[in-house]
Amino acid sequence: MNINVSSTGALEQKEEILESGEPEKKEKKKGEPVSELRQDLVTGDWVVIATGRAKRPDEFGQYERIKNDTGIENCLFEDPKATGQEEDVLIYHREDGEWTLRVFPNKYPAFSRGALPKNLDDGPYFAMNGSGYHEVIVTRDHYKHIQEMEDAEVAEIFDAFQDRYLDLMNRKSVNYIALFHNYGKEAGASIAHPHSQLMAIPVISPYIKQELDGAELYHKKSRHCVFCTISDHESEHKKRVVFENEDFIAFCPFSSRVAFEIWVMPKKHSPYFERIKNAEKLKLADVFKKSLNSVCKALNDPPYNFYIHTSPCDGKDYPHFHWHIEILPHTATWAGFELETGIEISTIQPEVAAEYLRSVINNS
Ligand SMILES: [Zn+2]
Ligand SMILES: [Zn+2]
Ligand SMILES: [Zn+2]
Repeated sequence: MNINVSSTGALEQKEEILESGEPEKKEKKKGEPVSELRQDLVTGDWVVIATGRAKRPDEFGQYERIKNDTGIENCLFEDPKATGQEEDVLIYHREDGEWTLRVFPNKYPAFSRGALPKNLDDGPYFAMNGSGYHEVIVTRDHYKHIQEMEDAEVAEIFDAFQDRYLDLMNRKSVNYIALFHNYGKEAGASIAHPHSQLMAIPVISPYIKQELDGAELYHKKSRHCVFCTISDHESEHKKRVVFENEDFIAFCPFSSRVAFEIWVMPKKHSPYFERIKNAEKLKLADVFKKSLNSVCKALNDPPYNFYIHTSPCDGKDYPHFHWHIEILPHTATWAGFELETGIEISTIQPEVAAEYLRSVINNS
Protein backbone atom coordinates (compact mmCIF):
# COMPACT_ATOMS: atom_id res chain seq x y z
CA MET A 1 0.00 0.00 0.00
CA ASN A 2 1.46 3.36 -0.96
CA ILE A 3 0.87 6.83 0.35
CA ASN A 4 -0.05 8.89 -2.69
CA VAL A 5 2.12 11.87 -3.42
CA SER A 6 1.74 14.15 -6.38
CA SER A 7 5.17 14.99 -7.70
CA THR A 8 4.21 15.51 -11.31
CA GLY A 9 4.71 19.28 -11.16
CA ALA A 10 8.31 18.94 -10.07
CA LEU A 11 9.02 16.17 -12.56
CA GLU A 12 7.69 18.18 -15.48
CA GLN A 13 9.90 21.08 -14.48
CA LYS A 14 12.82 18.69 -14.33
CA GLU A 15 12.31 17.61 -17.93
CA GLU A 16 12.78 21.16 -19.13
CA ILE A 17 15.92 21.75 -17.15
CA LEU A 18 17.65 18.44 -17.88
CA GLU A 19 19.04 19.79 -21.14
CA SER A 20 20.80 22.76 -19.59
CA GLY A 21 23.40 20.73 -17.67
CA GLU A 22 25.54 22.04 -14.85
CA PRO A 23 26.26 25.72 -14.40
CA GLU A 24 29.82 26.70 -15.26
CA LYS A 25 32.18 27.66 -12.47
CA LYS A 26 32.99 31.36 -12.62
CA GLU A 27 34.88 33.91 -10.59
CA LYS A 28 32.61 35.96 -8.35
CA LYS A 29 31.95 39.40 -9.81
CA LYS A 30 29.95 42.41 -8.66
CA GLY A 31 26.26 42.11 -9.46
CA GLU A 32 26.47 38.34 -9.70
CA PRO A 33 23.38 36.43 -8.47
CA VAL A 34 23.36 35.88 -4.71
CA SER A 35 22.14 32.31 -5.00
CA GLU A 36 21.63 29.33 -7.26
CA LEU A 37 18.48 27.23 -7.55
CA ARG A 38 19.53 23.63 -8.06
CA GLN A 39 17.21 20.73 -8.85
CA ASP A 40 17.50 17.21 -7.49
CA LEU A 41 17.98 14.90 -10.47
CA VAL A 42 16.02 12.12 -8.76
CA THR A 43 13.04 13.83 -7.12
CA GLY A 44 12.78 17.10 -9.03
CA ASP A 45 12.89 19.01 -5.72
CA TRP A 46 14.54 22.43 -5.69
CA VAL A 47 17.09 23.74 -3.22
CA VAL A 48 18.65 27.17 -2.83
CA ILE A 49 22.43 27.35 -2.58
CA ALA A 50 22.95 30.78 -1.06
CA THR A 51 26.34 31.52 -2.57
CA GLY A 52 26.09 35.26 -1.91
CA ARG A 53 25.91 34.85 1.85
CA ALA A 54 27.88 31.62 1.91
CA LYS A 55 29.94 30.94 4.98
CA ARG A 56 33.52 29.72 4.88
CA PRO A 57 33.73 25.97 5.59
CA ASP A 58 35.50 26.57 8.90
CA GLU A 59 32.70 28.90 10.08
CA PHE A 60 30.27 26.01 10.52
CA GLY A 61 30.22 24.13 13.77
CA GLN A 62 30.69 27.12 16.06
CA TYR A 63 27.80 26.49 18.40
CA GLU A 64 27.03 25.04 21.83
CA ARG A 65 25.75 21.46 21.83
CA ILE A 66 22.93 20.36 24.16
CA LYS A 67 24.35 17.68 26.45
CA ASN A 68 22.14 14.60 26.67
CA ASP A 69 24.44 12.08 28.33
CA THR A 70 23.17 11.41 31.84
CA GLY A 71 26.21 9.22 32.48
CA ILE A 72 27.10 5.60 32.01
CA GLU A 73 25.81 4.73 35.51
CA ASN A 74 22.26 5.79 34.54
CA CYS A 75 22.41 4.34 31.03
CA LEU A 76 19.46 2.12 30.06
CA PHE A 77 21.52 0.23 27.45
CA GLU A 78 24.58 -0.87 29.50
CA ASP A 79 22.66 -3.90 30.76
CA PRO A 80 19.38 -3.82 28.82
CA LYS A 81 17.82 -6.74 30.68
CA ALA A 82 18.48 -5.19 34.10
CA THR A 83 16.77 -1.95 33.04
CA GLY A 84 13.68 -3.79 31.81
CA GLN A 85 14.23 -3.60 28.06
CA GLU A 86 12.49 -6.17 25.85
CA GLU A 87 14.07 -9.56 25.03
CA ASP A 88 16.84 -9.51 22.40
CA VAL A 89 15.85 -10.52 18.89
CA LEU A 90 19.53 -10.61 17.86
CA ILE A 91 22.82 -10.56 19.76
CA TYR A 92 26.46 -10.77 18.61
CA HIS A 93 29.28 -11.84 20.96
CA ARG A 94 33.05 -11.56 21.02
CA GLU A 95 35.14 -14.70 21.50
CA ASP A 96 35.40 -14.04 25.26
CA GLY A 97 31.60 -14.05 25.56
CA GLU A 98 31.07 -10.28 25.97
CA TRP A 99 28.31 -8.93 23.72
CA THR A 100 29.27 -6.48 20.98
CA LEU A 101 25.87 -5.62 19.50
CA ARG A 102 22.29 -6.44 20.38
CA VAL A 103 18.88 -5.71 18.92
CA PHE A 104 15.66 -5.60 20.91
CA PRO A 105 12.16 -4.15 20.42
CA ASN A 106 11.83 -0.51 21.41
CA LYS A 107 10.21 -0.29 24.85
CA TYR A 108 8.04 2.60 23.65
CA PRO A 109 7.35 1.55 20.06
CA ALA A 110 5.72 3.76 17.44
CA PHE A 111 4.14 0.62 15.92
CA SER A 112 2.44 -2.43 17.49
CA ARG A 113 4.66 -5.41 17.00
CA GLY A 114 3.31 -7.96 14.55
CA ALA A 115 -0.30 -6.68 14.56
CA LEU A 116 -2.10 -6.87 11.22
CA PRO A 117 -3.12 -3.60 9.57
CA LYS A 118 -6.83 -2.93 10.10
CA ASN A 119 -8.91 -0.18 8.51
CA LEU A 120 -10.01 2.61 10.85
CA ASP A 121 -11.76 4.77 8.26
CA ASP A 122 -13.45 7.92 9.52
CA GLY A 123 -15.96 9.32 7.01
CA PRO A 124 -13.96 10.49 3.99
CA TYR A 125 -10.67 9.89 5.82
CA PHE A 126 -8.59 6.76 5.50
CA ALA A 127 -6.71 5.37 8.49
CA MET A 128 -5.37 2.11 9.86
CA ASN A 129 -3.82 0.95 13.09
CA GLY A 130 -0.07 1.46 13.36
CA SER A 131 1.19 -2.08 13.03
CA GLY A 132 4.80 -3.02 12.39
CA TYR A 133 8.12 -3.48 14.16
CA HIS A 134 10.21 -0.89 15.98
CA GLU A 135 13.62 -2.10 17.16
CA VAL A 136 16.82 -0.58 18.56
CA ILE A 137 20.28 -1.72 17.45
CA VAL A 138 22.75 -1.08 20.29
CA THR A 139 26.55 -1.31 20.16
CA ARG A 140 28.49 -2.15 23.33
CA ASP A 141 30.68 0.88 24.08
CA HIS A 142 28.80 3.79 25.64
CA TYR A 143 31.38 6.32 24.48
CA LYS A 144 32.33 4.98 21.05
CA HIS A 145 30.14 6.43 18.33
CA ILE A 146 30.24 5.26 14.72
CA GLN A 147 32.61 8.03 13.63
CA GLU A 148 35.22 6.64 16.07
CA MET A 149 34.70 2.91 15.41
CA GLU A 150 36.99 0.49 13.57
CA ASP A 151 35.78 -0.54 10.10
CA ALA A 152 34.97 -4.06 11.35
CA GLU A 153 32.74 -2.61 14.10
CA VAL A 154 30.90 -0.44 11.57
CA ALA A 155 30.53 -3.45 9.27
CA GLU A 156 28.93 -5.34 12.17
CA ILE A 157 26.20 -2.68 12.34
CA PHE A 158 25.50 -3.28 8.64
CA ASP A 159 25.45 -7.04 9.45
CA ALA A 160 22.73 -6.40 12.02
CA PHE A 161 20.75 -4.14 9.65
CA GLN A 162 20.84 -6.90 7.04
CA ASP A 163 19.99 -9.72 9.50
CA ARG A 164 16.98 -7.87 10.88
CA TYR A 165 15.88 -6.74 7.42
CA LEU A 166 15.90 -10.31 6.08
CA ASP A 167 13.97 -11.54 9.11
CA LEU A 168 11.22 -8.91 8.86
CA MET A 169 10.86 -8.20 5.13
CA ASN A 170 8.36 -10.96 4.41
CA ARG A 171 6.09 -10.38 7.40
CA LYS A 172 2.48 -9.58 6.55
CA SER A 173 2.36 -6.04 7.98
CA VAL A 174 5.70 -4.98 6.47
CA ASN A 175 6.04 -3.15 3.15
CA TYR A 176 8.94 -0.84 3.94
CA ILE A 177 11.83 -1.02 6.41
CA ALA A 178 13.40 2.23 7.59
CA LEU A 179 16.92 1.97 9.06
CA PHE A 180 18.24 5.14 10.66
CA HIS A 181 20.52 6.61 13.30
CA ASN A 182 20.20 9.79 15.37
CA TYR A 183 23.30 11.29 16.98
CA GLY A 184 22.92 14.12 19.49
CA LYS A 185 19.83 15.48 21.21
CA GLU A 186 19.24 18.05 18.47
CA ALA A 187 19.02 15.17 15.98
CA GLY A 188 16.45 13.31 18.07
CA ALA A 189 18.63 10.96 20.14
CA SER A 190 16.88 10.70 23.53
CA ILE A 191 19.42 8.17 24.85
CA ALA A 192 23.12 9.05 24.52
CA HIS A 193 24.32 5.43 24.25
CA PRO A 194 25.11 4.73 20.55
CA HIS A 195 22.14 3.06 18.89
CA SER A 196 20.40 2.86 15.53
CA GLN A 197 16.74 2.13 14.94
CA LEU A 198 14.64 0.04 12.61
CA MET A 199 10.99 0.64 11.78
CA ALA A 200 9.26 -1.95 9.62
CA ILE A 201 5.97 -0.45 8.50
CA PRO A 202 2.96 -1.23 6.26
CA VAL A 203 3.24 1.98 4.17
CA ILE A 204 5.85 3.47 1.86
CA SER A 205 6.98 6.95 2.88
CA PRO A 206 6.23 9.86 0.51
CA TYR A 207 9.94 10.65 0.20
CA ILE A 208 10.86 7.12 -0.91
CA LYS A 209 7.86 7.12 -3.25
CA GLN A 210 9.17 10.33 -4.81
CA GLU A 211 12.63 8.76 -5.31
CA LEU A 212 11.12 5.55 -6.75
CA ASP A 213 8.97 7.55 -9.18
CA GLY A 214 11.92 9.78 -10.12
CA ALA A 215 14.19 6.77 -10.77
CA GLU A 216 11.46 5.09 -12.86
CA LEU A 217 10.84 8.22 -14.94
CA TYR A 218 14.56 8.81 -15.53
CA HIS A 219 14.99 5.22 -16.66
CA LYS A 220 12.02 5.49 -19.01
CA LYS A 221 13.57 8.53 -20.69
CA SER A 222 17.25 7.60 -20.76
CA ARG A 223 17.39 3.80 -20.22
CA HIS A 224 19.83 4.50 -17.38
CA CYS A 225 19.61 4.33 -13.60
CA VAL A 226 19.60 7.90 -12.30
CA PHE A 227 21.77 6.95 -9.31
CA CYS A 228 24.35 5.17 -11.52
CA THR A 229 24.39 8.31 -13.68
CA ILE A 230 25.03 10.45 -10.60
CA SER A 231 27.67 8.10 -9.15
CA ASP A 232 29.53 7.78 -12.49
CA HIS A 233 29.48 11.54 -13.03
CA GLU A 234 30.70 12.33 -9.50
CA SER A 235 33.44 9.68 -9.65
CA GLU A 236 34.64 11.02 -13.00
CA HIS A 237 34.63 14.73 -12.10
CA LYS A 238 35.72 14.39 -8.45
CA LYS A 239 34.81 17.93 -7.34
CA ARG A 240 32.00 16.81 -5.01
CA VAL A 241 33.61 13.51 -3.95
CA VAL A 242 34.42 13.15 -0.25
CA PHE A 243 35.97 9.67 -0.43
CA GLU A 244 35.69 6.58 -2.65
CA ASN A 245 37.09 3.07 -3.05
CA GLU A 246 36.52 0.47 -5.80
CA ASP A 247 32.99 -0.37 -4.65
CA PHE A 248 31.51 2.69 -2.91
CA ILE A 249 31.49 6.46 -3.33
CA ALA A 250 30.66 9.28 -0.89
CA PHE A 251 29.94 12.77 -2.20
CA CYS A 252 28.15 16.02 -1.34
CA PRO A 253 25.12 15.91 -3.68
CA PHE A 254 24.77 18.59 -6.39
CA SER A 255 21.48 19.75 -4.85
CA SER A 256 22.49 19.35 -1.18
CA ARG A 257 19.56 20.22 1.09
CA VAL A 258 21.77 21.06 4.05
CA ALA A 259 25.38 22.18 4.34
CA PHE A 260 27.77 19.20 4.32
CA GLU A 261 25.08 16.67 3.31
CA ILE A 262 26.70 13.42 2.11
CA TRP A 263 25.36 10.50 0.07
CA VAL A 264 27.09 7.12 0.13
CA MET A 265 26.21 4.56 -2.54
CA PRO A 266 27.46 1.38 -4.18
CA LYS A 267 29.11 2.09 -7.55
CA LYS A 268 27.58 -1.05 -9.00
CA HIS A 269 23.85 -0.90 -9.66
CA SER A 270 22.00 -2.46 -6.74
CA PRO A 271 18.33 -1.85 -5.83
CA TYR A 272 18.28 -3.86 -2.59
CA PHE A 273 20.46 -3.10 0.45
CA GLU A 274 19.62 -6.47 2.02
CA ARG A 275 21.53 -8.27 -0.76
CA ILE A 276 24.88 -6.70 0.23
CA LYS A 277 27.72 -9.25 0.50
CA ASN A 278 30.05 -9.57 3.49
CA ALA A 279 33.15 -8.33 1.65
CA GLU A 280 31.15 -5.30 0.45
CA LYS A 281 30.17 -4.40 4.02
CA LEU A 282 33.84 -3.75 4.90
CA LYS A 283 34.26 -1.60 1.79
CA LEU A 284 31.09 0.29 2.71
CA ALA A 285 32.30 0.70 6.30
CA ASP A 286 35.57 2.19 4.98
CA VAL A 287 33.83 4.88 2.90
CA PHE A 288 30.97 5.52 5.33
CA LYS A 289 33.18 5.80 8.45
CA LYS A 290 35.73 8.11 6.77
CA SER A 291 32.94 10.40 5.52
CA LEU A 292 31.14 10.54 8.86
CA ASN A 293 34.40 11.08 10.71
CA SER A 294 35.39 13.94 8.37
CA VAL A 295 32.06 15.72 8.81
CA CYS A 296 32.30 15.32 12.61
CA LYS A 297 35.79 16.83 12.63
CA ALA A 298 34.93 19.59 10.14
CA LEU A 299 31.81 20.70 12.02
CA ASN A 300 33.13 20.25 15.56
CA ASP A 301 31.05 17.20 16.55
CA PRO A 302 27.67 18.16 15.07
CA PRO A 303 24.39 16.35 15.73
CA TYR A 304 23.52 14.26 12.67
CA ASN A 305 21.07 11.75 11.21
CA PHE A 306 21.74 9.11 8.64
CA TYR A 307 19.38 6.64 7.05
CA ILE A 308 19.38 3.99 4.36
CA HIS A 309 17.09 4.42 1.37
CA THR A 310 16.41 1.04 -0.20
CA SER A 311 13.64 -0.56 -2.29
CA PRO A 312 10.37 -1.39 -0.52
CA CYS A 313 9.72 -5.02 0.44
CA ASP A 314 6.10 -5.02 -0.70
CA GLY A 315 6.45 -7.94 -3.10
CA LYS A 316 7.03 -5.75 -6.17
CA ASP A 317 10.31 -5.43 -8.09
CA TYR A 318 12.19 -2.13 -8.20
CA PRO A 319 14.90 -2.84 -10.80
CA HIS A 320 15.63 0.87 -11.44
CA PHE A 321 16.11 1.95 -7.83
CA HIS A 322 19.61 2.05 -6.32
CA TRP A 323 20.06 1.92 -2.55
CA HIS A 324 22.09 4.59 -0.77
CA ILE A 325 22.78 6.20 2.59
CA GLU A 326 22.07 9.88 3.24
CA ILE A 327 24.00 11.66 6.02
CA LEU A 328 22.48 14.94 7.22
CA PRO A 329 24.47 16.96 9.76
CA HIS A 330 22.38 19.52 11.67
CA THR A 331 23.80 22.84 10.57
CA ALA A 332 20.58 24.87 10.32
CA THR A 333 16.94 24.79 11.42
CA TRP A 334 13.92 25.05 9.14
CA ALA A 335 12.30 28.48 9.29
CA GLY A 336 9.22 29.97 7.63
CA PHE A 337 10.46 29.84 4.03
CA GLU A 338 11.52 26.18 4.26
CA LEU A 339 8.29 25.14 6.02
CA GLU A 340 6.08 27.04 3.60
CA THR A 341 7.77 26.02 0.35
CA GLY A 342 9.65 22.83 1.21
CA ILE A 343 12.64 24.47 -0.50
CA GLU A 344 15.72 24.39 1.68
CA ILE A 345 18.47 26.99 1.74
CA SER A 346 22.02 25.72 2.03
CA THR A 347 24.72 28.22 2.94
CA ILE A 348 27.71 26.49 1.38
CA GLN A 349 28.29 25.13 -2.10
CA PRO A 350 28.53 21.31 -2.07
CA GLU A 351 31.77 21.63 -4.09
CA VAL A 352 33.35 23.77 -1.35
CA ALA A 353 32.06 21.46 1.42
CA ALA A 354 33.46 18.37 -0.35
CA GLU A 355 36.85 20.00 -0.89
CA TYR A 356 37.01 20.86 2.81
CA LEU A 357 36.03 17.32 3.86
CA ARG A 358 38.69 15.86 1.54
CA SER A 359 41.31 18.07 3.19
CA VAL A 360 40.16 16.87 6.63
CA ILE A 361 40.55 13.22 5.50
CA ASN A 362 43.96 13.87 3.92
CA ASN A 363 45.24 15.58 7.07
CA SER A 364 44.16 12.86 9.49
ZN1 LIG B 1 25.52 3.26 27.86
ZN1 LIG C 1 22.01 2.25 -10.39
ZN1 LIG D 1 17.45 8.87 -0.92
